[in-house]
Amino acid sequence: MWIDCHLHISAHWQRPDQIDDLVKEYRRVVDHVWAIGAPPPHTAGNPIVLRASRAHPGFFIPFACVDFSRPVSQIDRFRALGFKGLKVLCANGPLGSERAMPYYRRAQKLGMPVVFHTGSVPAPDPARPGLGVLTDYHPVELEKIARACPDLYMVALHGGGFFWREALAVALGSKNRRIYLALGDFDSAAGMHLDNLAAWDMAGLVQDRIVAGLDYPFAASLCGEPKPFTPTALVLPAVQKTALLAARLEIRLGTAWRDAVMGGNARRFETLAGLITQGERLP
Ligand SMILES: [Zn+2]
Repeated sequence: MWIDCHLHISAHWQRPDQIDDLVKEYRRVVDHVWAIGAPPPHTAGNPIVLRASRAHPGFFIPFACVDFSRPVSQIDRFRALGFKGLKVLCANGPLGSERAMPYYRRAQKLGMPVVFHTGSVPAPDPARPGLGVLTDYHPVELEKIARACPDLYMVALHGGGFFWREALAVALGSKNRRIYLALGDFDSAAGMHLDNLAAWDMAGLVQDRIVAGLDYPFAASLCGEPKPFTPTALVLPAVQKTALLAARLEIRLGTAWRDAVMGGNARRFETLAGLITQGERLP
């Protein structure tokens, strides 16, 4: 069974009974997921993620979205509340700027891994649909962070997106083995991953640091929004896409790759990065 390292709770599908349904559906294909707080309007924020993870502690590993306009001490609060990791959607500038570094130092100190939006403009606002290119989100920013925080575990969500070659170069070239890449949102335009699987294959050297993260509910709607666009219509496509990604990986790269990317690597990351503490066992 697989692990999905990049799931948001849909803002349109966040009632406790709806979350129960999502968990039931998603459990058909995954053991558990990393549930990542993100701002409205599409996705639910940190409080809903926390509530869901408390209701389903074996299923959701909660990540809190960092607000760089607020003090670093928010990270201590996230930790105390039970968040295991952090999400950086937008650092109000380059991801690896000096201004952002105190936040990462705090995360490192508290043993909280950080997942980053990389490779494109994020789309928290319907008026700004995202997917354009902005240098703030270059994967090489993670290399800067790794130099300042050598013990910090990081994941480049979207695997570097439009800059996927650069992400591979960072993962390959960095002495830091704590930088992982997440593969998954494979239906979007050029630069995202399905078309680039052959390149990932050539880069078999980073095979042990690639994880799967589908970016539900966005993944579910990238192929064309389900019509009618109802919350229920979002759940099943996400499940199907997880299964589809596994199948594509198997066909293109073989079962060892598939098993590593879809579960084994994330499991190792979870132990190394402290997402799962000793004695704790996820299903
Ligand atoms: Zn996301």
